[in-house]
Amino acid sequence: MKPRQTSSAHVLIFPGPLQGHVNSMLNLAQLLALHNLHVTFLNTQHIHNRLTRFADIESLPARYPTLRFKTIPDGLPEGHSRSGEGSMEPFHSVKVHGKPLLREILVKERVTCLVADGFFGKMANEMTEEVGVPSIHFRTISSSCFWTYFWTPYLFESNELPITGEEDMDRIITTIPGMENRLRCRDLPSFCRPTRAYGEPIIPLDTIVSETHQTLRPRAVIFNTFDDLEDPALSQIRRRFPTVFTVGPLHQHRESRAATATNTMRSSNNSIWEEDTSCMAWLDSQPLRSVIYVSFGSLTTMSRDTLMEFWYGLVNSKTRFLWVVRSDMIAAGEGKDESVPTELVEGTKERGLMVGWVPQVEVLAHKSIGAFMTHCGWNSTIESVVAGVPMICWPYFADQQVNSRLVSEYWKVGLDMKDVCDRNVVENMVNDVMINRKEEFLQSADKLAVLARKSVNEGGSSYTNLDRLVDFIESISQ
Ligand code: UDP
Repeated sequence: MKPRQTSSAHVLIFPGPLQGHVNSMLNLAQLLALHNLHVTFLNTQHIHNRLTRFADIESLPARYPTLRFKTIPDGLPEGHSRSGEGSMEPFHSVKVHGKPLLREILVKERVTCLVADGFFGKMANEMTEEVGVPSIHFRTISSSCFWTYFWTPYLFESNELPITGEEDMDRIITTIPGMENRLRCRDLPSFCRPTRAYGEPIIPLDTIVSETHQTLRPRAVIFNTFDDLEDPALSQIRRRFPTVFTVGPLHQHRESRAATATNTMRSSNNSIWEEDTSCMAWLDSQPLRSVIYVSFGSLTTMSRDTLMEFWYGLVNSKTRFLWVVRSDMIAAGEGKDESVPTELVEGTKERGLMVGWVPQVEVLAHKSIGAFMTHCGWNSTIESVVAGVPMICWPYFADQQVNSRLVSEYWKVGLDMKDVCDRNVVENMVNDVMINRKEEFLQSADKLAVLARKSVNEGGSSYTNLDRLVDFIESISQ
């Protein structure tokens, strides 16, 4: 990496208040700071408190002298759960309460460029246009899902939407440019469905689509992806959006740039949950590629019955498993017990380990991991791609339905279990990925992992795009 003078540009990075959004945008913040841009990372107070408690962020300004943190309140009462069906409320609340605060920061702190979470698209556009600060949107989702969101109004025009009901779910969607005949109705983002999943946060499709179209207004858009991974969608996006920077996989990019920087820097974990690192010693004691890692991210909730189907499927497969079961993972049902069943905890001891939260990137890189049963959040998906780990997908909501289709049909690095949760299906899929079709999936996953690493190494597409992004930020910051 070429050494750069400290820049006069001052970038404000403004992520949505959720684990996956903060994670990828904090990685970008560190990368920009490594290029000596002045970076202010604007968090809600609630997220900042959790990052301070569970991640190593207090040490970051010492390691990245041009990086600092600033906070705004999310406008919700302290006792608000901010999880389950309420997990999107901080987003909505910040959109309402955060506007004047954002405006004040842009002006008072002499910000020269705002990198805003695209989920705050309208609010960010209004504020930056009002005060005359150039802006860039950052999308934390896959570019394929972004493109699907963007195309949704045209699906209504061509009568491919709405979805009429369960019997309509396998109909093929034919008209999304670049993705023709690749998605079924059930692979469209969950917001296109007539019904919601158990405990799924409420976000109207109109909101999603209009925020996506807001990305036509800023100077550029950044994706946490790489060109070889999502070329069909990206080549279409580039026709509509004049300036696109693909700089992912950001966690890997940050690692490789920090490793080559003159001042050696440890990685940070960016977690807003307490990591249980004891699982690493447990993994050390397991045979090579023998363990399936199971995690459904930071937001997925499920009923107790669904949880039990997963458990029976895992146990019946006789495969070793490491399973992240968050304390708030069982959705509140009508008068139902929300605690993790004791038979599940007790019965896991033979071949499995259940934990509350793990250092996921490290877990995926561990030699004992053979596959990842995932909800296909975009961070988890791309982390699995980098690690070369095949996936079994059980998407919950939002972009996850699209991402799991990429895994199974585009990249062929795993199986898609969407819309089914049955112990026999779980057992069979685990056996297919871990035993019967192991070599096939490992080979494809390995090829993708090589491409992912290549993209963030010197000369790779994401590496070059990051340098271009830094130059671009400096040029619009004049
Ligand atoms: N994660 C983690 N430990 C866990 C589970 C998840 O560090 O036990 C991280 C994971 O590495 C990823 C993020 O949490 O970076 C989850 O983001 P993703 O986009 O996959 O899903 P979301 O939580 O937004 O649904």
